[in-house]
Amino acid sequence: MLISSFWIKMRKIQLNGSILLLGLLLSYSKLIGQAGDSIFHPTLVSQHLDILASDSLRGRVNFTVGQIKAADYINQELKSYGLSFLEHKSFYHPFILAKELRPRGVTDSVLNNLIAVLPGKSKADEVIIFSAHYDHVDRDIYGNKSGIFNGANDNASGVAAVLMLAKYFSAIKNNERTLFFCFFAGEELGLLGSLAFAPALEPEKVKSVINIEMIGKHDRSGKKAFFLTGEQNSDLSKILKRNLSGTGVKLRSEPEDPTGLFNRSDNYPFFRMGIPAHSIMCSDDKDSCYHQPCDDPQHVDVENMALIIRAIAASTVTLVNGKDSPELKRKPK
Ligand SMILES: [Zn+2]
Repeated sequence: MLISSFWIKMRKIQLNGSILLLGLLLSYSKLIGQAGDSIFHPTLVSQHLDILASDSLRGRVNFTVGQIKAADYINQELKSYGLSFLEHKSFYHPFILAKELRPRGVTDSVLNNLIAVLPGKSKADEVIIFSAHYDHVDRDIYGNKSGIFNGANDNASGVAAVLMLAKYFSAIKNNERTLFFCFFAGEELGLLGSLAFAPALEPEKVKSVINIEMIGKHDRSGKKAFFLTGEQNSDLSKILKRNLSGTGVKLRSEPEDPTGLFNRSDNYPFFRMGIPAHSIMCSDDKDSCYHQPCDDPQHVDVENMALIIRAIAASTVTLVNGKDSPELKRKPK
């Protein structure tokens, strides 16, 4: 999650940029049960977090070896799920940063998004995106550097979730629509990875973007719940709520967004293109370890996280099977 002062600065610059058959629902929950039991498990959450948020990756900071190691881990995981590439012959989607966007002292200009594709069965031209940023910061809002800012909640938690959803959907292979699994770099520098990637897409083909942020703690949502940033901007929450019935997990409505969470993560560049694009979150920047060295795996509730990720799969079933297409309620400005 991008710091709010950066977001305020960003606003000033122009961005480039039915009724379901009960049987169907039941059979889907059975499917989630079979493949999901092994995949949506706290052990796998811990495995991802212990690697992505380990001291050896030093916070996956943009333009560092730690970030290259994080990307390599994501790449190896995606390969093992048997996913496809998007155009490139690799999951890596490098993008170049103009000098004025690079942190001071950085001479390198290339960062890497990773994009994996699971082609849809009958509606391959329609796309649902699951995304998370995998970079983090190495200093707090005041520029203080002390210790390693491991970013377990922000946003190794989101990366773990998208990896587990990728593994799950590629195991069950029942997606009618095409699924993209996107891992963005440069989010903490101003949503740069998603700003680089989004314009390559035809917005009318992308039915929804589900970005995942900071689900490792639940100070704001409470346990067994999540919220959707900028909920009022589309009717996506209505769809997710309907699909969540019976899962024991709730989408907690958040009509107000005083700190601009909606505009401060990688869903936003997609919304600017007219796509219903939101972030699923459980905690926010009020968390005392937000952009601090204490954002470590030991503070993450991995049991709850596993439940939330499973619920994200359940809540998006009608997006994945092509039955629901969320609509914008507010036009991007
Ligand atoms: Zn952040």
